[in-house]
Amino acid sequence: MTRVVTLAGGVGGAKLADGLQAHLGDALTVVVNTGDDCWRHGLLVMPDHDTVLYNLAGIEQVEWGWGIEGDTRVVMDQLGVYGEETWFTLGDRDLALHIARTARVRAGARITDACLDAQAALGIAARILPMTDDPVATEVRTADGWLEFQEYFVHQRQAPDVLGLRFAGLADATPTPEVREAFETAEGIVIAPSNPLVSVGPVLDVPGMREHVQTARARGVPVAAVSPIIGGRALKGPADRMLAAAGHESSALGVARLYAGLADVFVLDTADADAAPAIAALGLRPVVTDTIMTDDTARARLAAEVLGAVG
Ligand code: GDP
Repeated sequence: MTRVVTLAGGVGGAKLADGLQAHLGDALTVVVNTGDDCWRHGLLVMPDHDTVLYNLAGIEQVEWGWGIEGDTRVVMDQLGVYGEETWFTLGDRDLALHIARTARVRAGARITDACLDAQAALGIAARILPMTDDPVATEVRTADGWLEFQEYFVHQRQAPDVLGLRFAGLADATPTPEVREAFETAEGIVIAPSNPLVSVGPVLDVPGMREHVQTARARGVPVAAVSPIIGGRALKGPADRMLAAAGHESSALGVARLYAGLADVFVLDTADADAAPAIAALGLRPVVTDTIMTDDTARARLAAEVLGAVG
């Protein structure tokens, strides 16, 4: 079966990764953003890795958009009693992952190995690789100054205008050997419909990552990107406002411009079919289809279409 590497953030990336896993099983590798990772209550929390993990394990909490289905918040409530901040809600079963993984990392394990252990424990077929084991921290500039990403995203609910983005540690980060090997053996590469600026952006900007993609392309490996923007809007989250604030067009075409020169195929929603000629003019082959992944069937259907485009 075709070996595919997909670059992903949280929600949009996790849904497509789940659809891809349904077709590819262990031939799928997901390289996830770690810029959103944070420490809460002394524990390492990896929101994008864990959203992908829970989606691939089929236990994701759909209503919240993070965590485990049916989870409870007994520990969180008791943490509040001790004066810990509780705005970053972590369910009880979710906390078990953060405790186990942090224990391994503190005992000297690489973050990648601690994540692979958790994936094996939950029995998922695909591999999810953190983009790097080095610390990277996405920060958002608002009128109040630079904020840690989760302060902006969760605590302030993405309400403030985004005046700038920076990624502390990114320039000194390196892709892991597992990530390098995944690109070396890839037969197709998929950029998931994740936020181009704070999810896919940091993955691609790990020094050496774009070169891995281009080296694979030079070998004839096709690269497809899927638009997270439909009808000018993000389905969830601040991607549309962030694109506009950064001087990009908040549209499928605006996203396509960011991936021109890096991707061969651009998958956009039927709602944006009018943009296909302009996308083709960028040197990307447009594939117009339904891209809203409302359920497992829609995830698998879009994944099949994407695989057809890179197959
Ligand atoms: P985050 O890290 O949790 O913000 O998640 P991502 O960066 O992976 O995903 C955010 C993006 O996913 C948003 O821009 C959404 O528009 C997009 N998205 C979410 N669900 C879907 C979907 O079903 N189809 C498409 N095409 N995009 C989606």
